[in-house]
Amino acid sequence: MVALDERRALVLFSGGQDSTTCLAWALARFAEVETVGFDYGQRHRVELDLRPGIRDALGELPLGPGRLGPDHLLAIPALGAISDTALTREVEIGLGESGLPTTFVPGRNLVFLCFAAALAYRRGCRHVVLGVCETDYSGYPDCRDDTVKAMQVALNLGLETRFVLHTPLMWRDKAQTFALAERLGGRPLLDVILAQTQTCYLGDRSQRHDWGYGCGTCPACRLRKDGWRRWRQSSARP
Ligand code: ZN
Repeated sequence: MVALDERRALVLFSGGQDSTTCLAWALARFAEVETVGFDYGQRHRVELDLRPGIRDALGELPLGPGRLGPDHLLAIPALGAISDTALTREVEIGLGESGLPTTFVPGRNLVFLCFAAALAYRRGCRHVVLGVCETDYSGYPDCRDDTVKAMQVALNLGLETRFVLHTPLMWRDKAQTFALAERLGGRPLLDVILAQTQTCYLGDRSQRHDWGYGCGTCPACRLRKDGWRRWRQSSARP
């Protein structure tokens, strides 16, 4: 069995609110933290463009003992080529015939986890961190806790090693994700999340709201906006 380093973590980092919070979470816990992103032909590459700036900003914050290691950007054009969804084609965002949102890219998180595990194996990272969530999720079956647990078993068997997959946001809604970010990095981390991360399905960065950039009406913007409002109300912040 290959020896993985208990102190090393790999974070699936897309440049959105959730994966940025996960990166801060990992820096607070692990000594060496690397990031991986995926270019799969997504319609809106703005997230990918934002990743280096967010990493730089988090590297400046006193989040914990973790040192930010290299970033890895993996191209998986095959995923875009075989999917016909609102994230990879000009398809309207809504509910498809399957009852799943048209933004669902079949198998995406499963593919991401396979590539991330192969990379973690090579880099000696025992811990793999991803920002999937079953609470606020849009019905994506590959974001479920059982899916991730099953993947952990499959990857450990298939690679004959002992990864631990971490999903710090699994049971948090968006308001609780904002609360976690504040706990991890205070207002400076929240400011990075609001100013630099991208959640909007349309890739809109022309409008800045109190909850960040986005069109304000797509499902991802609505979740983020609603979470910000609820977090501010619950914490009675200005
Ligand atoms: Zn939007």
